[in-house]
Amino acid sequence: MNKKDREIIFNKYNGHCAYCGEIINFKDMQIDHIIPKHNFNMHISNKYKIPENLNHLTLADINHIDNLNPTCRICNKWKSTYHIELFRSELSEQVKRLNKYSSNYRMAKKYGLIKEEIKPIVFYFEKQNNVGIISKDLAGIAQKHLKKENNFI
Ligand SMILES: [Zn+2]
Repeated sequence: MNKKDREIIFNKYNGHCAYCGEIINFKDMQIDHIIPKHNFNMHISNKYKIPENLNHLTLADINHIDNLNPTCRICNKWKSTYHIELFRSELSEQVKRLNKYSSNYRMAKKYGLIKEEIKPIVFYFEKQNNVGIISKDLAGIAQKHLKKENNFI
């Protein structure tokens, strides 16, 4: 990707990660496919049926700048091949997993070093007034895609 396109993506949220909102350095910015590229590569190469509402999309559309978000390394690694709603659902499980699997976490909580707060996961880009920078069409498509995900094969 050329530097100009990277700059456009970086500036979508003024240098913040689109998901957690952390400020990122331009050189460290990672780029997330809002609609994951993984499924498209897999389904195009295997000639699986792509859901009706997406069958007009090509890999070029998936790589379009409207489908790319600036992210920090951690969010990009976690989101990986997930759709936005699957990423949100994964994040919402983290406190439960800490309580179940981490004795360090349970001990710190027992001694009041950690206070849990149950709240919905709201991504940084959702809190911005400029949500429109992400193509509304693509956001809608991502939602529908998620719902139809099980119909892929
Ligand atoms: Zn992040």
